[in-house]
Amino acid sequence: MTDLNSKLNAIPAVDDLRAMRETIWLNSDVSTTSEGLLRVGLTQADAEDAQARLQRFAPLLAQAFPETLASKGIIESDIVPIPQMQALLEKTSHISGNLWLKKDSHLPVSGSIKARGGIYEVLTHAEKLAVAAGMLSLDDDYRLLLTPDFRRFFSQHKIAVGSTGNLGLSIGIMSARLGFHVTVHMSSDAREWKKNLLRSHGVEVIEYQEDYGVAVEQGRQAASSDPSCFFIDDENSRTLFLGYSVAGLRLRKQLQEKGIRVDADHPLFVYLPCGVGGGPGGVAFGLKLTFGDHVHCFFAEPTHSPCMLLGMSTGLHDAIAVQDIGLDNKTDADGLAVGRASGFVGRAMAQLIDGCYTLSDESMYDLLLMLAKTENIRLEPSALAGMAGPQRISANKAYQAQHHISAEAMRHATHIVWATGGGMVPDEEMQRYLAKGRG
Ligand SMILES: *Cc1c(COP(=O)(O)O)cnc(C)c1O
Repeated sequence: MTDLNSKLNAIPAVDDLRAMRETIWLNSDVSTTSEGLLRVGLTQADAEDAQARLQRFAPLLAQAFPETLASKGIIESDIVPIPQMQALLEKTSHISGNLWLKKDSHLPVSGSIKARGGIYEVLTHAEKLAVAAGMLSLDDDYRLLLTPDFRRFFSQHKIAVGSTGNLGLSIGIMSARLGFHVTVHMSSDAREWKKNLLRSHGVEVIEYQEDYGVAVEQGRQAASSDPSCFFIDDENSRTLFLGYSVAGLRLRKQLQEKGIRVDADHPLFVYLPCGVGGGPGGVAFGLKLTFGDHVHCFFAEPTHSPCMLLGMSTGLHDAIAVQDIGLDNKTDADGLAVGRASGFVGRAMAQLIDGCYTLSDESMYDLLLMLAKTENIRLEPSALAGMAGPQRISANKAYQAQHHISAEAMRHATHIVWATGGGMVPDEEMQRYLAKGRG
């Protein structure tokens, strides 16, 4: 314990964490991309394999979810400039460069970033089962998997997951659509409308009075006693991580289409809301593969749940939880109420993430209202966590000096706030969110 205390005392940001003051931690271990990638244990080929798998499943997705017809079964989101929001933010503090929003909030099927990893892992599992049973080969038309024969086959298999809500939605909806028996173990903070929506899809929802960590543990245990049950492990899954990483690979073309350059003179900054870490970690991995040293990735967390900041800054990763420094892990930011970060992601990304910062729930609600007013875009609170980043990095001369980013390059910077959820929030819930912003 004294060891732990001396470790904690050596990290300036920890005082702020304990006091729940908004803070930033800059990663002094960050290295060149090529060096940092060596620690991940996954490669460009793995990410491309995930991309190819999603391509194989695209015809199936287009048929199963008509809202993906226009994109031919590719689940992808727009990136949009938000100049009015930028102007409003700049009334308090300048942003060097241009502000953009990545609208994973409006991804089809489940309205959050979980439509990447969650759906991908269900599809990977389904493919593996079907191939092993000799019912499918990789060059088949995967729409085959929607036929009654396959439905019967998948109904003999179970899938389980622990979730604060959004991951449960993605995995539940996708699994049920293929015919799996799927159980979602939900933490106490999960919203009622998400549970109801899942039940309407035929998903079994089990509710717990405890937080995310407990829901995951219960799910893991229930699944371990049943060999026909596949447990999707949000804390350790490489498959989820790779599903998320495809977003990074696809961003190059999206930026090209918008005429956005990314190079040494045009740095790219990306701000990712972080819960357990798989989503933001996987996206950052894909971004690093794609843009190398020219992309700078930051994780954003609530002041009540800064598990990744705590784990990365101490180097303790999943051996420390926010409760260990007296925090309650209670936040309105769905998906971010995580007390203990993924040990896999923290270690894998230890030399690739530029830093982590925290913001209060009040700040998220303020930003939520500001974005709704200026751009008419409505997000859930967690999806605003990234919005606090561009001002802080623009003002942080020490960071810019550390990374040899000139003032001139900063003026040509692109800041992408990764909006991770909100597209499916019911209107009355959204009205309550908006009412909490201070305008
Ligand atoms: C899950 C989630 C995140 C973070 O993803 P992790 O993989 O848990 O780090 C961010 N925002 C929203 C809305 C989420 O649902």
